[in-house]
Amino acid sequence: SVRNSPTVDELHEWDRLHNLKPWSMMNTWREEDGQIIDRGDGIYMWDSHGRRMIDGPGGMWCVQIGHGRREMADAISDQVMRLAYSSPFSTGTEPAAILARRLAEFAPGDLNTVFFTTGGSTAVDTALRAMHFLNNRRGMPDKKIVISRERAYHGSTYLSATVSGKERNRTRFDKENRLVHFLPDVDPYRRPEGMSIEAFCDQKVDDLEQAILELGPENVGAFIAEPILCSGGVIVPPPGYHKRTLEICRKHDVLYISDEVVTGFGRLGHWFASEPVFDIVPDMITCAKGLTSGYLPLGACIISDRVMEQMTGPEEVLFSNGYTYSAHPVSCAAALKNIEIMERENVLGHVREVAPYFQERLRSFEKFPIVGDLRGMGLLGCIEGKVTEGRSSLALDSDFGTRLDTICEENGLLLRPLINMAVFSPPLIISKAQIDAMFDIIEDALEQVS
Ligand code: PLP
Repeated sequence: SVRNSPTVDELHEWDRLHNLKPWSMMNTWREEDGQIIDRGDGIYMWDSHGRRMIDGPGGMWCVQIGHGRREMADAISDQVMRLAYSSPFSTGTEPAAILARRLAEFAPGDLNTVFFTTGGSTAVDTALRAMHFLNNRRGMPDKKIVISRERAYHGSTYLSATVSGKERNRTRFDKENRLVHFLPDVDPYRRPEGMSIEAFCDQKVDDLEQAILELGPENVGAFIAEPILCSGGVIVPPPGYHKRTLEICRKHDVLYISDEVVTGFGRLGHWFASEPVFDIVPDMITCAKGLTSGYLPLGACIISDRVMEQMTGPEEVLFSNGYTYSAHPVSCAAALKNIEIMERENVLGHVREVAPYFQERLRSFEKFPIVGDLRGMGLLGCIEGKVTEGRSSLALDSDFGTRLDTICEENGLLLRPLINMAVFSPPLIISKAQIDAMFDIIEDALEQVS
């Protein structure tokens, strides 16, 4: 029977038998005795056996201010006692109104309208449904194709998964969908031998324009892109890529959706990376994760005035999109406290200060022959194992990431293994000494797997 204080062994058994986790291997999921994470403090987490680990992935790219903040608990509890829930349909709450205003301030250009969602996937769904709504309203019902990119990740709802391009996420799911068109990924490491980065950029920008022209601009509704393609392997595009693709989109009346679910909220040292880092003011920005530092679920789709003007008109038409937990007051209160802490502690400035050192330590692993590529930006990093049969292969059968992660875990660091890659995005409050501790563990592990 389920008692209030199960033993550690019972917990492991119940978790193994009854808790089907995201992205489980369906042949072995009931056999794998996974970790149970018990608590967190700052950049550290402890498992059920009391082992302390640095939270290398920052939860899932989201625990910006670190674990165990009393102030967050207090803000959440205060809001629960004041108002835990009210319907978001046609009524507002104080935390939602203030947060919407703050996001409009942080977002670039004329992105002033915020639609709150339950996370990143529903923020992407909202952006795509807004595009559908807009083009139907404009009398252009065919203008709905979404152009996305191979290896992109935009979520796990039906719609957001449809525009995600990671091959491994498609096992037993259908890939073909006439409303989505995938471009090849934009991975400078995999550019043809001898091709300059500038020529590579030209080619990738051209790929987009050619696709729009072939599909017909009258059929293409949106281009969706992560500023840095994160869970596909922290792929940093060539300089100028986003600015030039945005120009192509504008030329052909295609909406540009910047998916900042990972890059938003300080990961690259700014609230949003689109304008300060990539010099673009997109039509919509999606965000989630770092918005509450992972303390509670919340996402948002921020929409430009230009798009809103076209979605709004004299006739009565409902924008029938939304969730029971849109603008959840407790999540909004958590986001506001998270923002307050980030401002007070100058977390964005701290990221900009330590990021060059973080990237320098990462690049120092060049000396290991087993390493194929080292890349990242801000507090995002990826180590890719060398592929013997040429770098164009993705080495889907490699276990480099898992081997590295296993050794790091034994030595007190969690990483996120992705086939032949290991990625990390630690809490943004990580100090220089803690960055050293983290990279020292990785360096030892690289020596062992070499
Ligand atoms: N978009 C990007 C770029 C992401 O990385 C993710 C999640 O990792 C999502 C969307 C989906 O967000 P969520 O898991 O909160 O639904």
